[in-house]
Amino acid sequence: MDFRLSEDQQTMAEAIAEVCAQFPDSYWQDLESIGAYPEKFVRTLTDLGWLSILIPEQYGGGGLGITEAAVVLEEIHRSGANANACHAQMYTMGTVLRHGSAEQKQAYLPAIAAGELRLQAFGVTEPDAGSDTTKITTKARRVGDHYVVNGQKTFISRVAYSDLMLLLVRTSPVAEGQPATEGLSVLLVDLRTAGDAVEISRIPVMFNHHTYQVFVSDLEVPAENLIGEEGKGFRYIIDGWNAERILVASEAIGDGRFFVERAAAYASSRVVFGKPVGANQAVQFPIAQAYAAVRAASLMRFHAASLFDGREPCGAEANMAKYLASSASWQAANAAITAYGGNGFASEYGIERKFRETKLFEIAPVSNNLVLSYLGQRVLGMPKSY
Ligand SMILES: Cc1cc2nc3c(=O)[nH]c(=O)nc-3n(C[C@H](O)[C@H](O)[C@H](O)COP(=O)(O)OP(=O)(O)OC[C@H]3O[C@@H](n4cnc5c(N)ncnc54)[C@H](O)[C@@H]3O)c2cc1C
Repeated sequence: MDFRLSEDQQTMAEAIAEVCAQFPDSYWQDLESIGAYPEKFVRTLTDLGWLSILIPEQYGGGGLGITEAAVVLEEIHRSGANANACHAQMYTMGTVLRHGSAEQKQAYLPAIAAGELRLQAFGVTEPDAGSDTTKITTKARRVGDHYVVNGQKTFISRVAYSDLMLLLVRTSPVAEGQPATEGLSVLLVDLRTAGDAVEISRIPVMFNHHTYQVFVSDLEVPAENLIGEEGKGFRYIIDGWNAERILVASEAIGDGRFFVERAAAYASSRVVFGKPVGANQAVQFPIAQAYAAVRAASLMRFHAASLFDGREPCGAEANMAKYLASSASWQAANAAITAYGGNGFASEYGIERKFRETKLFEIAPVSNNLVLSYLGQRVLGMPKSY
């Protein structure tokens, strides 16, 4: 297997690097100081078509694979930028693409590809369910030609900057003898017409991210906005997880490269005790170890991506890629802070910002503990812990 980038993929990475050069550290620092959304960055990526590369050409997208999307997100993060403000459009759209009706695809995908419509929000997590997704209590009741939805979601990112939200709801209670995964459904909510039925409240978090509590009261959603079959929504959500894990792994790999490249350069130039700090193995080796870990995670990520693009099962590989990449980026983040010393804490160097940002990948969209449970139980056949 050869996971070197093709010429086209290499050109793509260079093009992304060029775009991201317009958004240096100072852009992200200025936004963070006022808690603002990176609108210009998201608009630029949208207008250049990078966020729609996974949408098939027949709907006006790039028609490319997850491998190319991985290259794009990695390069964004390698530059020091952060795709969290817009990455969900890539994988959220996949649920509509794979499970939506022909009418839904026609109604939404061309407008998303053209940058006229944003599908950036994905509402799964609830305060009292947490990682145990089947325990969600947001309910949708069918009344004639629509659903009436009531409930609460938490940590729903980008909802204030999205026109549409995919929402996981319970449409029927867990029935005796049926798995708890049954009875969940996915609705496509048009936030532009939701009015007071959807209220949001921003959750301040440790980096400049736009994530919200979402309160839904008597929201009417047309029945035609149900994705796929009623009660089968959990399956559709799971179906999107592999893509999400591969893409998030790519962002973490980009962060890892950012830390390693910056740390190696800084450690080579910062002179203390008459020599560069990087000449000391206590500084040099952690950077080298992190580099090896990032490169290894990258191989697993490309392996998962090639299986995904070949329509082969890739649950284990996508999960391992997410686990290895988030661990490697965190390792690289720590090596970088050590190499920078006090300057690692100074905002102007950009390290502390990325340090806070990259920690997220160990927790969301799924925590690494749950990834290990998946590997231990589903792949290795050990007993379930829950
Ligand atoms: C910044 C941010 C953005 C987010 N954006 C979104 C979004 O857009 N949409 C959305 O739906 N969600 C979003 N989330 C939610 C995210 O997916 C969850 O935080 C994540 O899945 C973990 O769930 P939890 O926070 O409820 O942790 P909990 O489930 O409460 O778990 C707490 C800790 O216990 C561990 N744990 C729990 N059960 C087990 C077990 N059986 N074995 C071992 N360890 C266990 C977990 O690994 C975790 O470390 C976001 C979260 C954050 C922080």
